[in-house]
Amino acid sequence: MSALSVVTIDSDLLTLMDIVLRQEAREIQVDDADSLTLCQKLAVEMFELMYLSDGAGLAAPQVGIPIRLVVVDPSNLDFGPHVLINPTIQFKSETEEAANEGCLSIPRRVGRVFRSTEVVVHAYNLKGMLEEYSATGWLARVFQHEIEHLNGVLYPDRLRGNESLIVTEKAMRRKAEKTVKGLIK
Ligand code: ZN
Repeated sequence: MSALSVVTIDSDLLTLMDIVLRQEAREIQVDDADSLTLCQKLAVEMFELMYLSDGAGLAAPQVGIPIRLVVVDPSNLDFGPHVLINPTIQFKSETEEAANEGCLSIPRRVGRVFRSTEVVVHAYNLKGMLEEYSATGWLARVFQHEIEHLNGVLYPDRLRGNESLIVTEKAMRRKAEKTVKGLIK
C-alpha cells in the first residue's frame, strides 16, 4: 500500500488558494544524485496510486508534495509510463479542441476544457537527462493538465463561458446515450 494518498478538494472549495494544490511547485535539482534517488522513490508511490485510481497522470502536488514532478501512463496510447521532472511547455498550438476532463484531486466531477491539440514539452527523466516530447490529441491534453498542476492551476480554472463542472455519473450517462443514438442512426 502506498505511503501517500491523493489530496482531493471539493469542487465548491476550488477557490481556496493556500493549499498544496494551489501552490507553485518547486524545481527539482536534477544534477543532484540524492534528489534523483528521492524522485525514483516518489515515482513508485505515485505510479502505484495512479494505477489504483485509474488515472492517466498524477502530479506531485496531488500527493501533497509541491515539487515539479509528474508521472504519466495514459492507457490506450502507445506512449507508456514516463516521469517528467521540471517539465516545461516549449510549444503550444493555437488550434484547440474541447473534451471532458477529470482529475483525481476533484472526485466525481468532469468539465469540458479547451486544450491545444499539439504541444512540445521538455522534461528531465529519472536519470537526470533532458528529453523532448511532441504530443498531439489526448497525450497533449494529459501533458497540459499535469503541468498546470505544478503551477497551482486546476482544470476548472479553464472552463469557458457558462460551462460548469458536472457530476461524472451524469456525464457518462450522456455519453452512453449519445453512443447508442449513434449506433442506431
Ligand atoms: Zn489533475
